[in-house]
Amino acid sequence: MIIATIGESAVDDAIYRVFIDALLGTPSQPPPLKSFRRRSGDPFAGKFLGSILAECHYHTGAIGVVIIVDGNGSPIHQELSTSEHCASKCRVCEGRSKTREVVSSFRSRLAAPLRVALGVAYPPIENWLLFGRSKGYSESEWSRKLHTNPGSSPNHVKELKEALDMRFKVEADRIRDGVNHAQKVIEDLDAFEAAFPMGFGLMAAEIRKWKT
Ligand SMILES: [Zn+2]
Repeated sequence: MIIATIGESAVDDAIYRVFIDALLGTPSQPPPLKSFRRRSGDPFAGKFLGSILAECHYHTGAIGVVIIVDGNGSPIHQELSTSEHCASKCRVCEGRSKTREVVSSFRSRLAAPLRVALGVAYPPIENWLLFGRSKGYSESEWSRKLHTNPGSSPNHVKELKEALDMRFKVEADRIRDGVNHAQKVIEDLDAFEAAFPMGFGLMAAEIRKWKT
């Protein structure tokens, strides 16, 4: 099963693959594309999303694309019954509207439309990887901190990155460490999903639909 990941770095993509395979219950493969460009940074910025999703749709045979971004200081998404954005800076709503706009412009490829699952790691991916070490690593705890002191999010993000201690290593070591952390987290996937219902849970529900 070919599934593309679009994250903010190669380290993040390796970590997401662990979660995707756990949700599918089987190993997935990245697209076999020499032209699959690697870049770092926000996938929703500029024209990158349109070109990378078109490449996946027309040239890879991928059944789906998983996009995961860091939430940073953005508000945690709330599901609404309308297609309105739940908050002006919500990354889930932003990602949904941008991907919907891109995918709706594609000509259908055989019978399979491109499926997209969107995740947001609140605030950065480190909060996911630290899950289980204490009760402090969850969306609700992050939300509490955000509401108690809205201006403090950069400090909390820094604390999380320091707690995991992956910052000053070379990329290969960060990939190895990140994958090891993720493998520990998926040992209790249900509890993890309950702790991150919006950023991870909604994405997980979509990926589970892709099981064959
Ligand atoms: Zn939202």
